[in-house]
Order: sequence, then structure tokens, then C-alpha cells
Amino acid sequence: MEERTVDVAVIGAGTAGLGAYRAAVKQTENVVLIDGGPLGTTCARVGCMPSKLLIAAADAAHATHNAEEFGIMVIDTQIDGKEVMKRVKSERDRFVGFVVASVNQINPDHFIPGYAKFVEPQTLQIDDQMMINAKSIVIATGSKPVIPPQLNSLGDRVLFNDDIFEWDDLPDSIAVFGTGIIGLELGQALDRLGVRVSIFGRSGHVSPLRDPVCADYARNYFSEVLDLTPSAMISEIDQHDDQVHIRFFTENSQERSESFDYVLAAVGRRPNLNNLSIENAGIDLDEKGIPIFDPYTTQCGDQPVFMAGDVGNFRPLLHEAADEGRIAGKAAADYPEVMAAPRRTPLAIIFTDPQIAILGDRYSDLPDQRFEIGDVSFEDQGRSRVLAKNQGVLRVYGEKGSGRFLGAEMIGPSAEHIGHLLAWSKQQDMTIPEMLEMPFYHPVIEEGVRTALRILNKNLKLGPKPVERCLDCGPGA
Ligand SMILES: Cc1cc2nc3c(=O)[nH]c(=O)nc-3n(C[C@H](O)[C@H](O)[C@H](O)COP(=O)(O)OP(=O)(O)OC[C@H]3O[C@@H](n4cnc5c(N)ncnc54)[C@H](O)[C@@H]3O)c2cc1C
Repeated sequence: MEERTVDVAVIGAGTAGLGAYRAAVKQTENVVLIDGGPLGTTCARVGCMPSKLLIAAADAAHATHNAEEFGIMVIDTQIDGKEVMKRVKSERDRFVGFVVASVNQINPDHFIPGYAKFVEPQTLQIDDQMMINAKSIVIATGSKPVIPPQLNSLGDRVLFNDDIFEWDDLPDSIAVFGTGIIGLELGQALDRLGVRVSIFGRSGHVSPLRDPVCADYARNYFSEVLDLTPSAMISEIDQHDDQVHIRFFTENSQERSESFDYVLAAVGRRPNLNNLSIENAGIDLDEKGIPIFDPYTTQCGDQPVFMAGDVGNFRPLLHEAADEGRIAGKAAADYPEVMAAPRRTPLAIIFTDPQIAILGDRYSDLPDQRFEIGDVSFEDQGRSRVLAKNQGVLRVYGEKGSGRFLGAEMIGPSAEHIGHLLAWSKQQDMTIPEMLEMPFYHPVIEEGVRTALRILNKNLKLGPKPVERCLDCGPGA
């Protein structure tokens, strides 16, 4: 078997691994990037991009149904599932193509196709072809979907997100297990594309919102517009005649029985560690078997092993995977001189309709005495009503005494943009009075943000009670 000795070995050529490789290769040419494939990254192949392409098609379909609200009758909307999937796949392939092209530009001496596993600390075996001794190792192997045990017997009727983006046509029906980000995004998109969708939760949570007001809003709203059971009791599930039959109890204890073409398992993802023989890596693992690491250095203890991206399960999002890759690649090359790097303000966006944004300090992490809340409902907000997008609520948090902006949760229109504005304000360490000094145009959804900030300012005793429906703000602010 071939043997190589390198300064840095990066396992996984996803977003995190590619970032780690680029950071390490700036410091040493003696680097290898190992990937067993398929190349193209989770984001481009089966994650962020194809899911947003499907949602874009769903939004287009929904706009035709919603046009009636404006007095515009769109007669006989037809959804061509084959055309929908054709666009999803061709655009997806374009994005994947860019990533694969960039991997192909890597020095061929640096890229090793194959699956790596630890045989001992600092020694990796790549399939049956090569042993690599590395001074430092970056683990960037991503994550994969969890299959709940109750779906084990359903064979090829159980799908994951990866499978959906391979469809040539839309099915007639699907049951979605999971009310988190992936379940809600894909479930709502398929529902809007004319697929009969039922979504089943277990915990009662709908979305990752945890502020009680926002979480209740999401639960009530999505339960109303979708066939969604947040805490379903499944009494029977089996497969025959190419159909999955599910018997379950609804929220009000009524027994229902439904059949579906498929079940989508969207109950969570777990780090890709099982094929790595991680127990041979010489690092500490937590009770779930995940390496314990410092998110500011990405280092595992004081070992020359670094974690980047979804495999570390710190913040399993694309921009965080890219950041962790850069931090890990540099730290691995610099080892033992490992420096900490700052992390950005947490920001998560869910592309449902209404969209969801969660940023800064989480509601559940804020101690009672230290913070105040401001809020706004979008149901009566001017611009939101103009657009007939008047659903949702925003809750903003500020620190008592200092008036610093701490964080927010939102379900509502343009949450992908408002989430950014608020996350940037948090990272700039702005106070609520400073945020209120910023310009607010009229009529815009951001005027709703200003209302929430004014209420927060008053609750922090830093400003007067906002005038209800004040005219200098324009109507519906
Ligand atoms: C449906 C869906 C929608 C999403 N939407 C969003 C979104 O809108 N916004 C957002 O920010 N995030 C989103 N995400 C999350 C985002 O895609 C991930 O956070 C990100 O892609 C993780 O990148 P990564 O580098 O950690 O993993 P990956 O891109 O999965 O890379 C891991 C690589 O490791 C390789 N590998 C695994 N094991 C081995 C081994 N033993 N040896 C060699 N190679 C190995 C794999 O082949 C793979 O190439 C979504 C995810 C999903 C599934």
C-alpha cells in the first residue's frame, strides 16, 4: 500500500473541507484533500440550492393562487411536475458544475479520491490504496439524514432530501416526518406544487423558533395552511401495493388513516463519523460519540485534529461551515501555534412562507432579569398589507441598562432580509437608540422593525411610549 507523509490532511471536500484546504495550502504545499464522493458539496447537490429552487417554483405556483386577493383571476393554473423538476435539476447541476470545476483545478497531487478512516492518531487509511501520516488532520465529513426506526420497514418508499432532487416528476402524495427546517421547507413547497402532503411532528415544535410568541404563531399558522400534526401519535405504519399506510391520532385525539406514495424522513441529521473509525483518532468524544472541540479554534483538546462544518454539529449551516473550514485549515497548518478566530453573530433563515429568521442570543439563553422585549405583528403593518403578506410577528431583545441589542426571532415577510439587518446590528454591538437613528423609508416592512425597536426602547426605559399609529411614520407603520 502506498504511504505518504503530509503536513495537513483534510478529510471531505465539501464547503468546510474546501475552505480548510484553501487556508492550509496558503501555508504549506504538503497538503492532501481526501474525498470519497460524490463531489459537489451537500449545499449545491442536495441541500441549500436545490431546496431553494423547488421553493422558488412553489412560490410561483402560489402567486397564481394568491392573485385573486388582488382581483386577478388566474384561471386553470397547471403545474407541470416534469418541467418543475427539469428546472430544479438543470439549475442544480449548474451549481454543482461550478464546485466540481473548482475541485478539478486543485493540484492533482493534493487530491486523493477515496474514503478515509483513522487507523491510529495521525494515521489515515484511504480505502485499500494508501496510508497517510499527517502532522494535522481536519475532519470535514459533513452529516447525513437520520432514519427514524418506525420507518425502517418501508424499504424504497422512504426518501431523504437527496432523493427528492432526483425526481423526474412530482408524485401524487407524500408524508413528511419532521417539522424542522427541512421538513417544513420541502413539505410546504411540495404542497404548493399540488402534491398531497401531510406533515407529522413528534415534539409539538413547528420550526426551530423557541420564543414562545413566535413559536406559537408558527405552530398555529402552519397547522392552518398545511395538513400538519405537530405532535402526531402514529399507531400503525406499513407498506403494501406501492403505498405507505399511516394510521395516526391528530391533535384532538381523532384517529385518521391515510395512504401516500412516499414518506420523506426529515427528522434530523447526524455527523458523518461512523465510516471514520473516530475511536482511533485519539481525541475525546462526548456522550453521543461526537468529538469535543473548541469552536473558536476548531481544535479537539490539544490534539492536532480539527473539526469543520456539519460534522461538528456546532451550527450546521453553510456560512458557518465555510468559516470553520478557514479557521480549521489555518489552525491545522499552524499547529502547534493554534490561534482563536472570532465567530460571527448566529443567523439562521428558514425559507418557508412566511419566512423565519433567528439571530443573536436565543430567547431561551437570556436570563429573566437582564433583558426586555419589543414586538410587532405584521398582520396590520402597512407594507405587509399592501403586498398581502401580512402574516407574522417579530420579537426583539435588548439588554437592560446598556440598551444593547441582543437578538431576535421572527416569522414574517422578508425575514431573510430583516434577519440580516438585525444580525449586522448585533455584530456591530449597536444599542436600540443607535438602531433607531438609522433611516427608515416609507412604506416598507422595515417600519415594522422600527415599531418593535421603539417598544423595546420604551420597555428598556430609554425612550417614550411610541405613539400608536403615529402619522409622522406614515400609515400602517
Ligand atoms: C435540504 C437541505 C437544505 C439546506 N439548506 C440550507 C440553507 O438554506 N442555508 C444554509 O446555510 N444551510 C443549509 N443547509 C445546510 C448546509 O447544506 C450544510 O451546512 C453544509 O453544506 C455543510 O457543509 P460540509 O462541508 O460540512 O459538508 P458536505 O458538503 O456534506 O461535505 C462533506 C464531504 O465529506 C465527504 N466524506 C464523508 N465521509 C468521508 C470520508 N470518510 N472520507 C472522505 N470523504 C468523506 C463527502 O463525500 C462530502 O463531499 C441545508 C442542508 C440540507 C440537507
